[in-house]
Amino acid sequence: MERFLFTQIYLQTHQALTFSWHTYSFLNFKGSYNDIKNLIHELGHIVNYYFSMQKQPFFYEDSTIFVSEITSIVNEILLNRYLLKTASSKEEKIFYLSKEIENYITTVFKQTMYTELEEKWYNTKTQESLTVKTLSDTYFNMLKKYYGSNIIYEDITNIEWTRLGHLYRFCYYPYKYATGLLMASTVVTSLLYNHTLTKEEYITFLSSGSSNYSLELIKILHLDFKDSNIINQGFEILKKDIEELKELIKE
Ligand SMILES: [Zn+2]
Repeated sequence: MERFLFTQIYLQTHQALTFSWHTYSFLNFKGSYNDIKNLIHELGHIVNYYFSMQKQPFFYEDSTIFVSEITSIVNEILLNRYLLKTASSKEEKIFYLSKEIENYITTVFKQTMYTELEEKWYNTKTQESLTVKTLSDTYFNMLKKYYGSNIIYEDITNIEWTRLGHLYRFCYYPYKYATGLLMASTVVTSLLYNHTLTKEEYITFLSSGSSNYSLELIKILHLDFKDSNIINQGFEILKKDIEELKELIKE
């Protein structure tokens, strides 16, 4: 029988809490690769909040989603880099590399598609009412635009959008996963390979909460979002993965 562990992560703060709260996350955990990835992702948000709480007044202790997704995705990449380094077999290495490549598809490619879809829905809303049929038709057209015609789409594919709460509970959330991964990839490259970002600078970033505009805060990570090169830099880890995977398969 499958056993679900209800895990509560709880970091006790050492300061006397006045108007704030403790940091915690709830999640299901069965020990699979995806569960560990989710756990490390949520820990990214928790540690971000924990550090910010120590340094910022209550009003600024919570980060914006734009900023906090970077920290969580940095954790995901670091986990994968660690698992790759300690993998004991070629098959295991192929598995982790494939998962990281897959992450770019689900996070950059697919979340960009969701963002374009959202934009389309908002524009439609100004001219006509949004019915289930309109939402489903637009979703299906967007899928065909991104995935092409060489795919067999099932009859219910057009209602897949209904499982995506981020699309109708929040406003313009998904693009933050795409920008988050591209920026996180640059951060990991700077931390692990180029050594252009120090641990102290990274902790300063984690402790910043929302004390400044997001675009200003990411400058602590030496990231300038107005630099058009940021997208290309963001694909550094993907490039590395594809090269490593090619080498491994050749062996
Ligand atoms: Zn997150």
